[in-house]
Order: sequence, then C-alpha cells, then structure tokens
Amino acid sequence: MNKTILITGASRGIGAATAIQAAALGYQVGVNYLKNEEAANQVVDYIVRNGGKAKAFGANVSSEREVDELFKAIDSTLGTVSALVNNAGILETQMPVVDIDVERLCRIFNSNVISCFLCSKEAVKRMSTKRGGSGGAIVNVSSIAARTGAPGEYVDYASSKAAVDALTLGLAKEVADEGIRVNGVRPAFIYTDIHTSGGEPGRVDRIKDSIPMKRGGRPEEVAKAILWLLSDEASYTTGAFLDITGGR
Ligand code: NAP
Repeated sequence: MNKTILITGASRGIGAATAIQAAALGYQVGVNYLKNEEAANQVVDYIVRNGGKAKAFGANVSSEREVDELFKAIDSTLGTVSALVNNAGILETQMPVVDIDVERLCRIFNSNVISCFLCSKEAVKRMSTKRGGSGGAIVNVSSIAARTGAPGEYVDYASSKAAVDALTLGLAKEVADEGIRVNGVRPAFIYTDIHTSGGEPGRVDRIKDSIPMKRGGRPEEVAKAILWLLSDEASYTTGAFLDITGGR
C-alpha cells in the first residue's frame, strides 16, 4: 500500500491506537497532536520500530492557518492524504446546561466541530476526482452522546458531536460522486484520558455494569471499526455510522 493517512489527535487514546493499526496495514501515517509532542513521538517511534512509516505533526486543528500548514507539511513529507480521521476532540467537566458559559461553548465547538470542517475541506480539495484527485475516505469520530444528549454531564459536548454527525451525512452526499466516502463512528465508554478531562477518571468503571456487555471498550476496538470504514471493503458504505458501545 502507498497511501497516506492523517489522524488528528493521534498522540493518545483512540487516535494513537488507530495510527498504530493503520501503519500495520501499510499506511504512511501523519500523527497529529496539539501539545503532547512526547506522546506523539512515542507513537511514531513505535510505528517505525515495527517497520512502518509515520511522522508527528503538531497543529491545532481548530485553527484554519494551522490546518492549512499541516496539510502542506504532509503533502511535502508523506505525500497527499487519501484517508482522514477527524478524531481530535475535547470534553470539559460535567455540569448542567444552566452553568455552561459561552467561553466553554466556543472551546467545545471549535475543538470538536470546526476542526472537522477545516480538515475535511483540505482533504476534499486533495481527494476529489472533480479537482484532479484520486478519491479517498474520511471517518469522523463522533460519540454516542450525539444520540443520548448526555444530560447533567455535558450537553455541549453531545451537541458538538450531533453537529459532527450532520457534517458526516451532508458531506457524504456532497462528495459521493467525487470518489470520496465519509462515515462516522460513535464510540462510548472507552478507556482513555478523556474521562479525566471530564472530571471523572473512573467514569467507565462506574458505568460498566449498565452496559449490556458489562465492560468498557478499548481504543483498539474503535480503531478496527475506523480502519474498516476507510478500507476498500467498505467501498459502498457512505454516510453511515457504526456505534461502538458494547450494546448500549
Ligand atoms: P484523549 O485520550 O483525550 O485524546 C485526545 C487527543 O486529541 C489527543 O491526542 C490530543 O492531543 C488531541 N487534541 C485535542 N484537541 C486538539 C486540537 N485542537 N488539535 C489537535 N489535536 C487535539 O481522547 P479519546 O478518548 O481518545 O477521544 C478521541 C475521540 O473520540 C474524541 O473525538 C472523543 O470525543 C471521541 N470519543 C471518545 C470516547 C471515549 O469514551 N473515550 C467516547 C466517545 C467519543 P494532545 O495529546 O497533544 O493533547
């Protein structure tokens, strides 16, 4: 395989697991991170030690300028992106809607929604067969919160993920005849650092007995679904969502 993939927020959690599995499949992997350069370099080192090709790229994917520079840097080092995983996302401390201030809303929507729009735009410019590209695939990492609303915890985050789902549906239809597929995954209760940002590091263990499978999920289990949606095995799948929730 000689394909280049960009995974946003790949220094940790679901993004890191996806980067490692993508490299094992033969992708050249752009490992994006925001602040945690050391963790991103560890992902890259692991991939290279195992015979793969990867490079770390620091960029805030909610900044138009930094996304523009990120894609240009990948063009000139790993080659043009033909797969994109919009994975970077944030969660803030649990609180009811009545206490959420506008600064927090801007942070959540910038990090979780604007980022997906900006990276998807740059990807479509390069992938679209109508613009001289060779096609490609995009997977947006949403959340089951888009369906539940996350009452009392983080309705702002849930709303941002519902916006990501609308982007997935709309963009999938816009570019379906340009050689680009766009799909989403909606994980829940995955063991990563994000729950610490939400103020409850042990959240998955607190909830796990209410999950039909009676356990939390692993980042690697989400990565498998993302990589299937990107693969040619999913060649007639677009505008679709895979819920990865242990049955909840
Ligand atoms: P995580 O462990 O907290 O990792 C978040 C990653 O996103 C880190 O690599 C972080 O980089 C990066 N990031 C955050 N903001 C960024 C920005 N503006 N620009 C570039 N990178 C940025 O999170 P995770 O649990 O793996 O979550 C990944 C995705 O899955 C998110 O979209 C999340 O909403 C979604 N999700 C997670 C769960 C779950 O249970 N874990 C459930 C549903 C959905 P640094 O390391 O540099 O900070």
